[in-house]
Amino acid sequence: MAEQHELREKGLRLTPQRELVLQAVRDLGHATPEEVAEKVRETHPGINLSTVYRNLETLENVGLVQHAHLGHGGVTYHAAEEEIHAHLKCEKCGVLIEVPIEATAHFTQSLIDDYGFHTDLSHLAIAGRCEACFNQA
Ligand SMILES: [Zn+2]
Ligand SMILES: [Zn+2]
Ligand SMILES: [Zn+2]
Repeated sequence: MAEQHELREKGLRLTPQRELVLQAVRDLGHATPEEVAEKVRETHPGINLSTVYRNLETLENVGLVQHAHLGHGGVTYHAAEEEIHAHLKCEKCGVLIEVPIEATAHFTQSLIDDYGFHTDLSHLAIAGRCEACFNQA
């Protein structure tokens, strides 16, 4: 498996626990550590939240998962093999829309041109209203 190989190169084994945590992130799409723990416990009730936190950190360090901030409060994780994407989060209904990072290119380029500021819009959610909620208002 590619992941096994990647981890071995970095001197880490993909332990059964890490494998479980990674699979949970993949299944859930975007998940908080609490949601990952809940999912893992469906099959492995003995695994506690701090273990999940530790494994998520390790998986992020070796580049298999990434975190993003999608609202108030904690971080969520998604699998790193997904395309780099921006997150549009509707503040009314909570829907999360993933868009290719290229959709933000004009904005990020103008920040570079006008302010010399380089930003990564995949890291934070862009808050607003989805089309349905906007039209309802
Ligand atoms: Zn962060
Ligand atoms: Zn994401
Ligand atoms: Zn909405």
